[in-house]
Amino acid sequence: MGIAELKFLVVEDHEFQRGMVLKTLAALGATQMCWATDGLGALQLIQAPEAATTDIIISDLDMPGMDGMELMRHLGAARTTVSVILASALDGALLASVETMAKAYGITILGVIEKPVTAAKLAPLINRHRSTGRDPSPPESTATAFTFAELVEGLNRDQFEPFFQPKLEMATGRIKGAEALARWRHPQKGIVEPLAFIEIMENNGLIDTLTWQMVQKSAAFCQRWAASAAEVTIAVNLSVKSLTDVLLAERLTELVRGENLDPCHMIFEVTESATTDDFGVVLENLSRLRMKGFGLSLDDYGTGYSSMQQLTLIPFTELKIDQSFINNAARQQSARIIIESSLEMAKRLTISSVAEGVETQQDWDLLRQLGSQLAQGYFIARPMAAETFTQWARRHPCARLAGREGRSVSGF
Ligand code: C2E
Ligand code: CA
Ligand code: CA
Repeated sequence: MGIAELKFLVVEDHEFQRGMVLKTLAALGATQMCWATDGLGALQLIQAPEAATTDIIISDLDMPGMDGMELMRHLGAARTTVSVILASALDGALLASVETMAKAYGITILGVIEKPVTAAKLAPLINRHRSTGRDPSPPESTATAFTFAELVEGLNRDQFEPFFQPKLEMATGRIKGAEALARWRHPQKGIVEPLAFIEIMENNGLIDTLTWQMVQKSAAFCQRWAASAAEVTIAVNLSVKSLTDVLLAERLTELVRGENLDPCHMIFEVTESATTDDFGVVLENLSRLRMKGFGLSLDDYGTGYSSMQQLTLIPFTELKIDQSFINNAARQQSARIIIESSLEMAKRLTISSVAEGVETQQDWDLLRQLGSQLAQGYFIARPMAAETFTQWARRHPCARLAGREGRSVSGF
């Protein structure tokens, strides 16, 4: 949809500022614009019976009467499909928290602009707008929930497999390994992602069976790969539920050795270990896995479930910084500071660090500059079926990724 077809609503109490935004929109080619001086006025315009659907609201935050935050709450409650651009003179940390708040209310936020609003700041955010707006249907996890019997059948028919997502060394661009992410090759629904089955499996005693199949297939894959690339590792996610079985470490070791893979080529990724009642058993399993030579990665580091305390309790070999920090690093100073201090800590603990969720060239450059050892994310590649991964790895131009000769990482 071209900008001339989009309907804009500018919410701003300050007359001069409002005029500036309207003029900027017009300069960008907008033809359908209206305005209000506070949140209440905006709601009345949107909800008027004769009103055409608004596509994008550009709203100030601090306004007399109904402010921008309250407007977001009402828009969320009304389940409107409008997208919002927030414009404010308030500081970056506050804007970031309001953005998170608006998302929690279910609002599609195209972005946040620090005033003054200019065409250069506005244009890329308007481009992000999808004409469909927010999808009011429930999230995929509930829409495609599977029954216990369906999951058991899928497991029995061996329909689950690991997709592999590469992990690159940032300094050299070399492939150092991959994370194995479970996918269900469903006969009718195609490739089903973990959101639709992991939690149900964890709550119904099926997760161990999945872990088994994931470890066995990942080990077999890595065994073939390690034959030509001696240093590579495969990381498999372990549910904390599995870690409460005291025999787990022994069984995993046997399974991996049964595939002729040295445990040093496999890393287990864990989160929320400290929250279980059976913490003793969890620790015994993790310590034994480490003793057998497996790597241990603290996944989603920095989130509520994955805390610093765990680093003192469990012999981790790797820290995986949560995607949320990486996603926000480019525009949020606090996220950058947390990444920096996590990387510094990993360095001093002499464990490796992985930045997960690297999506853009900007993310890559920033994380490299901050000193992350490894990177994983859509910018490099999405998780791929084993065969596709192998082809991708063969074509992978590792020297270019390092950016050593000043060449761009986006060239592959
Ligand atoms: P996770 O362990 O944090 O895995 C990373 C997730 O981020 C994966 O989602 C991956 O596809 C996605 N991702 C990777 N790069 C990017 C990026 O640049 N941007 C964004 N937005 N996302 C990115 P996926 O495959 O849907 O897996 C979701 C979660 O399911 C995993 O999160 C993990 O907790 C769980 N999971 C996956 N496979 C297994 C498994 O075999 N066993 C267990 N217990 N859990 C698993
Ligand atoms: Ca993981
Ligand atoms: Ca993660």
